[in-house]
Order: sequence, then C-alpha cells, then structure tokens
Amino acid sequence: MTDYLLRATAANHSVRAFVTQTKNLVQKAASLHHTTPVASAALGRTLTAGCMMGAMLKGEKDLVTLHIKGDGPLKGIMVTADHRSHVKGYVYNSQVELPLNAMGKLDVGGAIGVGTLRVIQDIGLKEPYVGQIELISGEIAEDLTYYFATSEQVPSAIALGVLVDRDYSIRQAGGFMIQLMPDATEETISMIEKKLQTLSSITSLFEKGQTPEDILQYLLGDLGYSILEKREVQFECNCSKNRVEKALISLGQKELEEIIEEGKEIDLYCHFCNKHYTFAIDELQQLYNKAKK
Ligand SMILES: [Zn+2]
Repeated sequence: MTDYLLRATAANHSVRAFVTQTKNLVQKAASLHHTTPVASAALGRTLTAGCMMGAMLKGEKDLVTLHIKGDGPLKGIMVTADHRSHVKGYVYNSQVELPLNAMGKLDVGGAIGVGTLRVIQDIGLKEPYVGQIELISGEIAEDLTYYFATSEQVPSAIALGVLVDRDYSIRQAGGFMIQLMPDATEETISMIEKKLQTLSSITSLFEKGQTPEDILQYLLGDLGYSILEKREVQFECNCSKNRVEKALISLGQKELEEIIEEGKEIDLYCHFCNKHYTFAIDELQQLYNKAKK
C-alpha cells in the first residue's frame, strides 16, 4: 500500500485535520541514510510532520522546512516538504545508539537534547517566514504543538509515531494534526479533548489494522467532518547532476580554478538523499568555461 494523507475539515470549518500513514517513506529515508532505530524514529516523526505541513501550503512553489538543532548526540534534523507533501530529510548523526527511555520507548528526546526548532516557510514572499521556539521535550510532536500555539496562534493536537521492528525495518509510521480555528466552540474543543484522552498511540492503531480513515472517523466522527482530499505522500529528493553543476558554476571562475589546481576529482553529495556526484578534472574545466570571472 502506498503512503497517503487525508485532509479534512469538521464542525463547520472550525476544525481542520490531517491524518497520514508514512511507513514506506520513512522506510525509504531510513534505508537511504542507514539510520539506527532512534535516528529512524526522530527522522520519521519529522518527515511525517513535514507531510502534513506540506498539505497546509497553498502555492505550487511553496516549501516548508523543519530544522531542529539540539545538544544531544543526534545533533539535528532537517526536513523539507513541498505543497504535494513530497518530503526529504536527514539527521546530522544517523548512527546514534541510546538505551530506551523510562517508558521503554526509543529515546528521541534524549537523542535531540536541548535545542531549538525552526520552521521556515518559503511561500513566495521576498523573505521566507521563519518561526523559532525552544524545544519542549525534543519528542517533536510536543515541540510542534508548542510551535503552532506560540508562533502561529493555532491550538493543535499533534501525534507522530514511528515503530521500528527488531530488524531495524520500519513497522509502522504516521501521525495526525488537529487544529482549531478561532471560531471553534468550547463544546467542539471538549469533544476533541475527550477523544484524544482515550486514543492509543498512532502506531498501535496501525498495528491493529486501523487506517487513517478509521482514525479520522474516531476523532471527528461526532463533529460532522468531511474529507477534502486524499493524497499520496512520498520521500522524494529533487537533486540531480545538472543542479550540482549549476551550483558549481555559480561559485565563479576563481573558486573553480582553485579546485582544479588541486588536481583531484571532487565528490559532492546530497545530504537529503545521500546521493554522490563526482566531477573529474575535465568536467570541472568545462564548468570553469561556463562560469563568470
Ligand atoms: Zn538528493
């Protein structure tokens, strides 16, 4: 089954919701980056959030980037999503090994440590819109909830989950976001709160065979919801040799000359998908000829 996301509205448009299942794309990210279980969980949760935040974008060229930096061994996470909920991302240190936390769960908060979350929205304005918070727990869902409350004044309930199997493969992954618009009534809010209190973790629901449709029905079934969109979500990097060439050309002749004088082919790689691009000296010479002085 391919990964997908549901975008829905409820209670006369005073509530918006996103529910997504992301097992395959998290698996792809884990395979590309050779992540340990705790790194897979940290990256997978952030990619899942990225899918849902991508679905909030309006313009075709809009991008949203989640950038987490912490003093823990994982050091940081970078995830970018486009308006189709195509996501890409990486962790700074994919080889983190940590004991399980007190609840017997992968210790994402411990891996990230104390730090910041920045949300960078490239929405066609002259400057991107940037919001930043201090991390609450480093568990990501809680941090994003705080981000939406403080930076965007949108009360939200967010769940993000990644279940890693014994062989390090991704067994389940997904999440949801429920957001209250300013006209949400007290009654609506308390109905949602009650549902959230009795809800199991999102990965345990998937384990029981529940679908995003089932989860949406459970959460918002009493509030008159409608599904506005069902979309495929996936991990996709847009890097290419052509793009790397353009970046090299933009360095200018002086810098390229220095690289060529070293006399060695160079190896550049894309952080987002771990793909390597090598350039032999004669290729560099051709780029030099295309570059400005
Ligand atoms: Zn790439």
